[in-house]
Amino acid sequence: MRLSAHCFAVTGLGYVPPWTVNAGFVCGSEATLVIDTGANALAAATIHGYAEAVRPTNRITVVNTEKHFDHIGGNSYWRERGIEVYGHVTVQRTPEEFAIEKAEFAAGIRNPARRALNEAEVFYHGTALANPNCPIREDQILDLGGCTARILLTPGHTPSNISIFVPGDGVLYCGDCLTNGYWPNLDCGRFRTGGTGCSRWTASPALDPMDSGRTRL
Ligand SMILES: [Zn+2]
Repeated sequence: MRLSAHCFAVTGLGYVPPWTVNAGFVCGSEATLVIDTGANALAAATIHGYAEAVRPTNRITVVNTEKHFDHIGGNSYWRERGIEVYGHVTVQRTPEEFAIEKAEFAAGIRNPARRALNEAEVFYHGTALANPNCPIREDQILDLGGCTARILLTPGHTPSNISIFVPGDGVLYCGDCLTNGYWPNLDCGRFRTGGTGCSRWTASPALDPMDSGRTRL
């Protein structure tokens, strides 16, 4: 869905109850910045299709807002196409962690026959572990052509969390916080030791964080 002149959201990609997974993209006149890749290669292909439909000739860059697999699971789809994937320098997931993620997904399949058939592999078909190949260590500004996107380090939900602020449109992509209605997700955070992300959002000029209460997004 279109959020503003340059910003789009791809919402409701499925995952583990009660979570849904969101992604988005920002289109300048020359480049498109894809924000998060979904949980698997199919989600990434869906995001790619929407992004290309809006600006077919743009070069594409991808950024992950955090380390959890529902944000990076589709990375391999992009890397296989030679597309750069940015992410916080600490996003270094291991094959063992990915195997555990897939096993937890498989264990969540309630029908024992489907579980025995390992239908989780259908969900993860064509999906391999791929960490970001372009590490982010500090705030950055990306020029997309007539539109700038600011990458902000916003540790909180995890130490690896970043947000993407598009000041010209007044749009903030803040990962798991995109969907309204859930309890705030600080399950994996360390509020006293690094959860500074919220203060960075409120410090962003031209952005009223309370505005999100007006809508489902
Ligand atoms: Zn997360």
